[in-house]
Amino acid sequence: MEVDKKRRHSENELKQEVVKKIKSPEPNYAYLETVVREKLDFDSEKICCITLSPLNVYCCLVCGHYYQGRHERSPAFIHSIDENHHVFLNLTSLKFYILPQNVHISHDSKVQLLNSIKFAVYPTYCPRDLESFPRQCFDLNNRAYMNGFIGFTNAATYDYAHSVLLLMSHMAPLRDHFLLNHFDNQGEFIKRLSICIKKIWSPKLFKHYLSIDDFVAYLKVKEGFNLDPIDPRFFLLWLFNKICSTSNQLKSILNQSCKGKVRIAKFGNEPDTSGSVTNKVIAKPFWVLTLDLPEFSPFEDGNSVDDLPQINITKLLTKFANSRSSSTSPVFELTRLPQFLIFHFNRFDRNSEHPVKNRNQTLVEFSSELEILDAKYRLKANVVHVIIKPSSTDGNTFNGDEKSHWITQLYDDKSEKWIEIDGINTTDKEAELLFLNETFIQVWEKKK
Ligand SMILES: [Zn+2]
Repeated sequence: MEVDKKRRHSENELKQEVVKKIKSPEPNYAYLETVVREKLDFDSEKICCITLSPLNVYCCLVCGHYYQGRHERSPAFIHSIDENHHVFLNLTSLKFYILPQNVHISHDSKVQLLNSIKFAVYPTYCPRDLESFPRQCFDLNNRAYMNGFIGFTNAATYDYAHSVLLLMSHMAPLRDHFLLNHFDNQGEFIKRLSICIKKIWSPKLFKHYLSIDDFVAYLKVKEGFNLDPIDPRFFLLWLFNKICSTSNQLKSILNQSCKGKVRIAKFGNEPDTSGSVTNKVIAKPFWVLTLDLPEFSPFEDGNSVDDLPQINITKLLTKFANSRSSSTSPVFELTRLPQFLIFHFNRFDRNSEHPVKNRNQTLVEFSSELEILDAKYRLKANVVHVIIKPSSTDGNTFNGDEKSHWITQLYDDKSEKWIEIDGINTTDKEAELLFLNETFIQVWEKKK
C-alpha cells in the first residue's frame, strides 16, 4: 500500500513537471497552426471517445476526436500530452483552450480560424444574411454548393428524414424563425432540430454535405421516435406534432403557414327516423392532404414510361371541389388553404405483404403552377420515390419486398432552377422532367 502511494506520488510529480515545463501564462498562438479543419466533424455524437460521457466534452482541433474534461488526468489533458495536440474546443460553451496548460483563448473572435470553427458547430445569422440566401458557397475543398440545398450522408438509412428536413428548411416562416433565434432554453429536441436547420443554410460548411445520423438516433433514444414502416410522410407528421407539443411559438407558426382545413359532408343511404337523409358535417384540419391515385393492375413486363398510367394533378383535386359523384358519396370542400399546401400521393397499401413492390406506380402530371379555388400556388418541393432492388446477397433482408429510396427536388426562386438532392449529390434538374418520377410528397406555396 505504502509502495503504491509512493509510486502514485512520484507519477504525479513527474506529470507536474511535464506540465510546468510547458506551462506559460499566455496562450501559445503558434499552436493554432496545428489545427486541421478538414478533420473536424461536428455532426457526430458529442461524447468522449474514452469515457463515452456526453458531459464536459472537448474537441481536439488537431485530430478531431472528442475527449472529456481539461483538468489533470482528464482524457483531454492526457491526450494533449500523449499526442502533442494542444488546441481544444469545449462543445457546450464554445470556448477554446490550450492544453495541458489549461489556458483559455479569450480573444477568439479576433481569430478568423476560430470563428469559422465556432460557426461550424453553431451557425448564427442576422436578418441581412437571409436576404442573400441562397447563394453559391465553397467548402474547404473549394467545392461549390448552394446553401439550403445540401446533401446528406447515409441516405440508405435516413433519406426519409433528409427529405423532411429539407422541405421544412424551405418554408420561409419556419426557416427564418429557426435561423434567427436561439433555442437554449427550449429543451434538447428543439435545440437540436434548430441546429440541423441552421447547418442546412450554412454558407461556411467545411464539407458540402451534412450528417443527421446523430439527430435521428437522438429522436429514437430520447424522444420516442420509432415508426415502422417509415416514409417521409410519417416522419413529417411525427415531427410537426412533436414540434407543436414542444414549442408554442413554433406551433403557431406551423398552424399559420401549414395547417389547412377540409369540410367533409357525409350523406346517409336511408332516411333516419325523422324521415330526413342523414347529413353529417365535420371540419377536419390537416397538415398533409392525401390524394388517392386511381387503381391500376400492375403491368406485366414494360418498364418504359409509356406503359405507366398517368393522371393530371387537377383530376386528383376534383375530389375537393365540393361536388358529389353520387347521392351518397361524401363531399369534400377545402375551407382553409394554407400558405404551404402539402400533398401526399397515396402509393402504398401498408397492409400488403409487399407494400413497396405492390405500390401504385401511377405518374402524376403537374406543371409548376396550380390554381385551387381562387388561390394560385407554385411548386416549391417534390419528394420522389425510387426503388432499390435487393441484391442477391441481401435478398432476404427486405422480406422479398423492394426497398424505397427518397430523392428531394427543390425549387430555387432566385435562380428559377430546380435542384435535385440524392444522398450527398446535388444536381440541376429540368422542370419538365420532374413528373417522370413517382412523386410522393409535394409542397406548394401560395403566390402573393
Ligand atoms: Zn488530437
